[in-house]
Amino acid sequence: MAESRKDHSRRVHAHVVVVPYPSQGHINPLLQFAKHLAFRGVKATLATTRYTVPSISTPYVGVEPISDGFDDSGFAQAGSEDVYLSSFKANGSRTLSEIIRKFKSSGFPVDCVVYDSFLPWALDVAREHGIYGASFFTNSAAVSAVFSMLHDGKLSLPLKLDESPLQLPGLPPLYSYDLPSFLKAPGSYPAYLAMKLSQFSNLEDADWVFGNTFEALEGKVAGTVSEQWPAKLIGPMVPSAYLDERMEEDKGYGASLWKPLGEKCMKWLESKARHSVAYVSFGSMVSLSAEQMEEVAWGLKGSEMNFIWVVRGTELGKLPSHFVESTREKGVVVTWCNQLDILGHGAVGCFVTHCGWNSTLEGLSLGVPMVGVPKWADQLTDAKFIEGVWRVGVRAKEDHKGIVTRDELISCLKQVMGDGDAAAEMRANVAKWKALAREAMSQGGSSDRAIAHFVHHLISNKKQQLNTNTNTNAIQWSGYMGMRVPPIN
Ligand code: UDP
Repeated sequence: MAESRKDHSRRVHAHVVVVPYPSQGHINPLLQFAKHLAFRGVKATLATTRYTVPSISTPYVGVEPISDGFDDSGFAQAGSEDVYLSSFKANGSRTLSEIIRKFKSSGFPVDCVVYDSFLPWALDVAREHGIYGASFFTNSAAVSAVFSMLHDGKLSLPLKLDESPLQLPGLPPLYSYDLPSFLKAPGSYPAYLAMKLSQFSNLEDADWVFGNTFEALEGKVAGTVSEQWPAKLIGPMVPSAYLDERMEEDKGYGASLWKPLGEKCMKWLESKARHSVAYVSFGSMVSLSAEQMEEVAWGLKGSEMNFIWVVRGTELGKLPSHFVESTREKGVVVTWCNQLDILGHGAVGCFVTHCGWNSTLEGLSLGVPMVGVPKWADQLTDAKFIEGVWRVGVRAKEDHKGIVTRDELISCLKQVMGDGDAAAEMRANVAKWKALAREAMSQGGSSDRAIAHFVHHLISNKKQQLNTNTNTNAIQWSGYMGMRVPPIN
């Protein structure tokens, strides 16, 4: 039955353009956020770099290309962080602006740009068009807090900690090895350090600040820095099938920069006993030294446990010769997989992770205890929380050369996957966090309310605009197709 004019006028919806930094660990949470907006009746469009557009496939969110100036192969084409980031700023600002103009003239004006906090220039673009801008932080609240204090001059670089820990309000004592690597070696990646600090350069002008974390997990940390970092906690941004189960068919992020070899893993997992497999992944960016690769390889073999190890194509050459053949009975090496499918399988009993923030949230949300092998950036701080605060895993110790040895890995695997009290405690703790993550995202939960509040504001604002300008084309958007849109309260 055709909708009456009256029905149409009631269905006024806002339009949000979401702009991620174009790496896997940033596209995933921002795209997931876009899905949440679509689920609540907002028209959501992901504006991502041309090179990454083909890797996105989700029915509920529109996709528009912007340019980072390296349309053929993205970052790899740029050669350096400096060149990439300044080219992205120049070309990204221009092409994002073009998209906003295009939507305006086609009757779907954009109301808000939700941009990755790594891209503060997107707020300037939103302002030029007179629309809202919201910054989305993809790191933990703890890590965001440390960088906000640094930006505000409450910390200065390089940090010299020696034996004594850093004591910051709301945070546990942080030793040198717990702190983001950029703070101890500011010269190691100056462009990335500058980018981390630039997150706060115009933050006071943003209309909203979002953090991919949740009240029960990090509310206390976020609360103590709320003046510098006034974030609404809206996470964990993990597909709905693993949490609130409200979005039908939402089992994956809908973005994959590499081809997942899922079938091979899933078939193999079917033949394995409950909690008998260690899933090992260092995420999308970490590149291990040849020596570290070798130690992980022989550690996995020496543990005599079942394992799935993700070794990206560019890293395969570092595997010891004959490793794959000699572990065929016990293990599978894949170049990429759907991590959530693996972590969600009952045969997996441990996640050996580099402690990227998405992986950390996924381990918590899917209830898998972890062995942390952090290498740089925020991973070191995430590992501290995994082991020392949430107590859902252990952190492997590095030797004097910065290597996690095979013996150390074996010992960690035994602690986490063994029959002892420590393993039982970690399993119980991670089950508790899994339940709390689900609660946060479920209807009426803390993150659900924060997202609903944002949507409510956008839609009320849109209605006001339409009331004052009756000539505006009414926005018609079917929302999350086939889904029940919950009432906004
Ligand atoms: N991931 C995946 N398949 C893999 C390895 C990783 O889908 O084989 C996903 C993982 O689920 C996570 C993201 O890639 O969402 C990595 O993000 P994270 O923040 O953990 O680490 P980064 O890659 O940014 O270092």
